Amino acid sequence: MAQQYPVSPIDLHMHSMASDGTMTPADLVQRVHGAGVRVMALTDHDNTAGLEEAAIQAEALDIRLIPGVEISSEWETQGIHIVGLFVDPKNSVLQEGLSRIMAFRDWRAMEIDRLLANAGIPGAEAGARAMAGSRMVGRSHFGRWLVREGRCADANEAFGKYLGRGCKAYVPSNWIPMTEVVGWIHAAGGYAVLAHPGRYKLSGTRLRALLSAFRDAGGVGLEVCTGSQAAGDREHLGRLAQQLGMAGSVGSDFHGPDAGHAAIGHLLPLPDGVEPVWERAGIHLY
Ligand code: AMP
Ligand code: MN
Ligand code: MN
Ligand code: MN
Repeated sequence: MAQQYPVSPIDLHMHSMASDGTMTPADLVQRVHGAGVRVMALTDHDNTAGLEEAAIQAEALDIRLIPGVEISSEWETQGIHIVGLFVDPKNSVLQEGLSRIMAFRDWRAMEIDRLLANAGIPGAEAGARAMAGSRMVGRSHFGRWLVREGRCADANEAFGKYLGRGCKAYVPSNWIPMTEVVGWIHAAGGYAVLAHPGRYKLSGTRLRALLSAFRDAGGVGLEVCTGSQAAGDREHLGRLAQQLGMAGSVGSDFHGPDAGHAAIGHLLPLPDGVEPVWERAGIHLY
């Protein structure tokens, strides 16, 4: 039987149309309010363009909005996502870093377009950009376009057939190394948290090595509770956080109300004994 979750009062990982979410920042905050979540972070991929609109709506609905960003990065050859929380979006070091990633995304979109055209599917970049509705274009947008065009049954098939690692339209990523990305987050006064550690499919030894390297680089925490995680992950990640002296975060990774994404606030609390990362910023909840 599916586990029944109480709604978490805090959710520190979600996306709007400023990246690959399907809701506007204002509608997203409205939905957060409706779900009963009181503290949220907007963490769009590689840009902070949604924060201003989200802040206006959050103020109106008495939601505490933590400015965030989810930065695409890599450690050794492993692609990873680093969530920056409490970042100052006006910081120039952060924004210069993010603009490098956005430039890579633009180039990659052209490459994906070329590879899909070679596979007999022309017009993908224009199509994906039209789906995106903002400057950031990512593989999710290509996936949605492939589904809309009837080329794939769903996003999962689009990733499995074309967009995923090793597939026909896969472009090897060239993200900025972890240590540098953590440096940008620090420059912007934020806390760096390793996103969804269970999703990298690393062995226990490798995950521990990643986490200690991340901590040595200045990372303060990891997402112990995420929207879609395997049974036992929460307890395992909670123990790792404690052993490594790192804080824990909770985040659904909400992308939209459509099926296939975790719901806002659909999160268990941190295991006992794990330090909540938000307490470092003076927020006390439970
Ligand atoms: P990108 O950052 O442009 O390389 O795209 C990565 C994003 O694609 C992730 O943040 C997810 O939102 C989405 N994604 C990755 N794998 C899948 C999948 N199998 N099905 C649907 N969406 C996926
Ligand atoms: Mn995404
Ligand atoms: Mn991610
Ligand atoms: Mn995410």
